Amino acid sequence: MAETPNLAAGEWLFARPAAFERGVKKVEDFPPADRLEVALCGRSNVGKSSLLNAITGRRALARVSHTPGRTREINFFRLPDEGMGFYLVDLPGYGYAEAPKSKIAGWNALMKQYLRGRATLRRVFLLIDGRHGLKSADEPFLAAFDASAVSYQLVFTKADKVAAAEMAERRAETEEALRAHPAAHPDLLATSSVTGEGIPELRAAIAGLIDLAALGYKGPRGPA
Ligand code: GDP
Repeated sequence: MAETPNLAAGEWLFARPAAFERGVKKVEDFPPADRLEVALCGRSNVGKSSLLNAITGRRALARVSHTPGRTREINFFRLPDEGMGFYLVDLPGYGYAEAPKSKIAGWNALMKQYLRGRATLRRVFLLIDGRHGLKSADEPFLAAFDASAVSYQLVFTKADKVAAAEMAERRAETEEALRAHPAAHPDLLATSSVTGEGIPELRAAIAGLIDLAALGYKGPRGPA
């Protein structure tokens, strides 16, 4: 059953500016787990930076994640930029076929520490290129999430590149594949950073994971 997304809550949550908190390469440097957080993860080039910019409404926010030396870091963004809020966490891209084994091992170790050790992590959004759907190369990552018992949800990117009929097919086959993954959220989101499709729904999904009342949200005015 699809959840009814609270679009107004999502809009409220993302109305204020986000800011870069820090990039980390080792567990000792993680910011204190003093607030809830959600993370984005995906293969390199999946459209993660574009999506991060689209949901925060900041055209260049995620540029930091692409700067040399930062692509292998876990980048923490705080939202709002001032006061208490939540962390949006940009996990390093995976799937560099040309990456040396030692680098891949480093990625795995850091991710494992993050996924196992972050009690405040509410969900990982796993980005999948909507043109390709879930690939066998994604399976080890799904398995890693299943093993870490972290809740995760699939998000298709670049939906503007895929015809509606094809997207419906891809959605059906992916939902079928997800049945084998107990920690996966059953709802799939289809997004486009170019057209804005699915962005309010993704914001709403994130808002549904955050304690909005603690951040001062009073709910939408008038009938819900
Ligand atoms: P990252 O490596 O996962 O951070 O991916 P980027 O956000 O840098 O995007 C990789 C490429 O895909 C760039 O050329 C983007 O312009 C393109 N791209 C990202 N999102 C979309 C989208 O929603 N639609 C289309 N058509 N292209 C996109």
